[in-house]
Amino acid sequence: MNKEQFKKFTEHLLKNNKVIAPQYNAEGKLIIDELRELSDLFLGPELPLDSWKWFMLPPKMKMFDYKKNVITEALPKIKKQIFLGVSILDLQALTLLNQVFEQDAYYQEIKKNTIIIGTSHVPKENFYQYFSSFEENKLEHLQFDIFLALQNGDYKIYTGSEDGQRLLDNSGYKDYQHIEYAGPIREEGLDQQMVSVMDAMQNYHDQKIWDDLGKRCMQCGKCTIACPVCFCFRMFDKSYLEKGSGERDRVWDSCYYNEFTQVAGVTPDAPKHRMMSTTAQKIYFWYEHHFVRTPATYSLPGCVGCGRCTRTCPADIDIFQTQKDILAARQKAKK
Ligand code: SF4
Ligand code: SF4
Repeated sequence: MNKEQFKKFTEHLLKNNKVIAPQYNAEGKLIIDELRELSDLFLGPELPLDSWKWFMLPPKMKMFDYKKNVITEALPKIKKQIFLGVSILDLQALTLLNQVFEQDAYYQEIKKNTIIIGTSHVPKENFYQYFSSFEENKLEHLQFDIFLALQNGDYKIYTGSEDGQRLLDNSGYKDYQHIEYAGPIREEGLDQQMVSVMDAMQNYHDQKIWDDLGKRCMQCGKCTIACPVCFCFRMFDKSYLEKGSGERDRVWDSCYYNEFTQVAGVTPDAPKHRMMSTTAQKIYFWYEHHFVRTPATYSLPGCVGCGRCTRTCPADIDIFQTQKDILAARQKAKK
């Protein structure tokens, strides 16, 4: 797809759909928002600090209303939308969320109404080695509808679904290749970087790493908000003034917040009993979630290396450095 064809295709998208895409706002900040003008579209290696999670798994979702004994499910009312310009790293993140929320009717309702158009742009600060260069054979392990692979200034077009094919056909563009999703596990096996970090965390634990980070972390939870694959939530019940009625909402939560691990079993000595009481425990739990539990459960990396957590952290905690420290502890123990 050359530049002229790309312009025609994106004009077709904008004319007929709600398109959400990376763009710079008036303050010069790269954001993801509804695209009003084609000239605002940004496709390049920089990543916005916010991620597609805001649209695919919104921070607050109503689950149901209740009135007396009647519960009415409140599936999200969402019109068809197109995510245009999802970096390959963020595609990996969405592929994981698709698995985590595979049985979740609320997430699936949004997914059903969303067309995802990925790109091969990889941010310079990416530390996930697998995506340091784009190769066609990586696409069969990512979920997308259309993929734009940059080639000498033009785009080679791939489709990953019938919806993607239909969209291209309707725009008048037919020169695409279809790729069938082959699941998370690659022919060569599990991702080696993922396996090494998992092994180091499970078998060569160095408490000093976590104690040092625990002294710096302020438990603000910003990293969990910025991370495209952090998906923990809490339920929040709200009563209406009318007797016997109210609603239940699902809202983002963070494992850094004290309430997150508060458990029942209150005693006078421990009025707020928690499973994790120190910051060092919390930060370890967060890393363990990304580097051990998620890969073990979904066979997918629980961190796509986007660096958003590092960019947003007020304590300058750098996940790239922490990963190096985890691997160094493993090397040291092996000597
Ligand atoms: S680099 Fe940080 S923000 Fe990005 S996926 Fe990994 S943990 Fe999440
Ligand atoms: S953003 Fe930094 S300081 Fe805040 S909770 Fe995360 S690691 Fe801790």
